[in-house]
Amino acid sequence: MLHECSGLDRRRLSELVVALGRAFGALDMKSHVRSLRLYYLALEHGLVTGERNQLKAEWTEDAVVEWLRILRVPPYHSSYPVLARGSRCPRCPKGDGHPVEISTLLTFAGGAKMGCRRCNAVWVELDEEARAVMAASAIARRPKRHGRTGP
Ligand SMILES: [Zn+2]
Repeated sequence: MLHECSGLDRRRLSELVVALGRAFGALDMKSHVRSLRLYYLALEHGLVTGERNQLKAEWTEDAVVEWLRILRVPPYHSSYPVLARGSRCPRCPKGDGHPVEISTLLTFAGGAKMGCRRCNAVWVELDEEARAVMAASAIARRPKRHGRTGP
């Protein structure tokens, strides 16, 4: 049995989204139409999550580039230096880069983006495992050599 609170059947929800899109369109609410269209696509492709069929997607060009930098994906693989966890600021003079000046700007599974409040240096700190995963994917991305040697 479906309860009131357990959310709509996805197909029914898709129909309602289409109806709402038409209503938005009739009122020339273009930005609402655009974002609802995205929601519709997410629904149709099973990209919504949870009981309430949520779509979490706030992406910008800047966010894409920032993540490419942090996760070291070419051509942004050397944007930020990578240091061991708990490092001191790489730019401040030794004995000067007091831990208090270092702040965590962003965390993700396996690492963090760190920054120095004194000199504004930014770097990435990675766990061993994340480091291995990134090294492996960098190897996988290397262009294949011509002339096969094996079967
Ligand atoms: Zn610094």
